[in-house]
Amino acid sequence: MRIVLVGPPGAGKGTQAAYLAENLSIPHISTGDLFRANISQGTPLGLQAKEFMDSGELVPDEVTIGMAKDRLEQPDAASGSLLDGFPRNLSQAKALDEILEEKGIALDAVLDLEVPEEEVVKRIAGRRTCRNNSAHTFHVEYKPAKAEGVCDECGGELYQREDDSEETVRKRLEVYHEQTEPIIDYYKSQGLVVTISALGKVVEVTQRAMEALRQKAA
Ligand code: AMP
Repeated sequence: MRIVLVGPPGAGKGTQAAYLAENLSIPHISTGDLFRANISQGTPLGLQAKEFMDSGELVPDEVTIGMAKDRLEQPDAASGSLLDGFPRNLSQAKALDEILEEKGIALDAVLDLEVPEEEVVKRIAGRRTCRNNSAHTFHVEYKPAKAEGVCDECGGELYQREDDSEETVRKRLEVYHEQTEPIIDYYKSQGLVVTISALGKVVEVTQRAMEALRQKAA
């Protein structure tokens, strides 16, 4: 299966993507994670991306599309993938269509995670992320780690992402409404979108997503 996951920051895309990819046995491809890996390795691409990420802006398409294409060409993505955070604007969506078309393949579904805006700000302001694995996330109030600052899953250090400050979250939401939401209509016109609520327990949202994808494939 080839799936795109969309939703505002704080919808739980990263968390859901990790579970869904595992359930569906396809690789989880997150452009945000690829950028963060480049930043921690100090690559030129990471240096380029950092200033945009820290201010809540999108990294320019020239950088992002090439990086996503390279990742999609890795052997593990040959039989499917779950794209998390890509595409994030219309030109990326069109570039993705071309990349897939060249290979004679197409998307199966676009899973749209819906969450009210007030919830987004609450979720992100208290979010703490593991430095080893960004799918390991905690929340100071809703899901505290057993030992403060330490990941329950792998013992990694928990930190607040630079782009999770309230000011940057508001900017990311604005960017989401202006640039990313239009791709939902683009994909609706192709009959690909399934929308589910991202509220509730993580496992409930995963079940809801799996059921919606099953119905879409039927
Ligand atoms: P995420 O981890 O998906 O929340 O992404 C974190 C940040 O990485 C975003 O706020 C953007 O600055 C950047 N980013 C991730 N994916 C993309 C993309 N497809 N296009 C442009 N910028 C991106």
